Amino acid sequence: MQKLMKLIIASNNAHKIYEIKKILSGKFDEILSLKEANVHHETVEDGSTFMENSLKKAREISEITGCAALADDSGICAHALDGAPGIYSARFAGEYKGQESDDRNNALLLDKLSDKADKTAHYTCAMALVYPDGREVCAEGYMYGAITDNPRGTRGFGYDPLFIPDGESRTVAEMSDDEKNLISHRANALKLLLSKI
Ligand code: IMP
Repeated sequence: MQKLMKLIIASNNAHKIYEIKKILSGKFDEILSLKEANVHHETVEDGSTFMENSLKKAREISEITGCAALADDSGICAHALDGAPGIYSARFAGEYKGQESDDRNNALLLDKLSDKADKTAHYTCAMALVYPDGREVCAEGYMYGAITDNPRGTRGFGYDPLFIPDGESRTVAEMSDDEKNLISHRANALKLLLSKI
């Protein structure tokens, strides 16, 4: 693996930044969030795939900072809903912030699945690493499981209280950070990405 001195995480999502930093700990000399790098920029996520959005975020931040930038675009895809909410996971129930956004999104997903027999779903994470010289490395990771109609747990974020990974009886929100980071879509995408650089 080629050693990168400084990496900017092209995200304003504190939960994602926390998970990515934990997974990448020790692999780079310095890993900075946008806030830590003092970059105030919000990418318009108008791509039609996770990877288009991720690449757009990483390209913009690498261009602005002159550093290597890593972006994550992710979401949950319910199979009985033809993959919804998918790339619209963050704003499935509308433009809300923080816990209210998570609560409304989760309630809407439960409602839409309430009359469906198939509760299976997967998380997708598209990671893009863009270097200041224009090189780009991409990788996708997944976590498969099912949506429970009995949400539980207080860890993680977003749809985690609803999602039971295959082979588990607990929701992701009932797992420790380290347990989630062993099996998550984000960890799987990062593992693949690191194997390519
Ligand atoms: P993005 O910031 O546009 O990539 O949107 C990601 C959204 O997908 C988040 O706001 C969550 O709703 C959902 N999501 C992505 N990864 C996770 C996860 O690990 N746990 C729970 N929800 C997630």
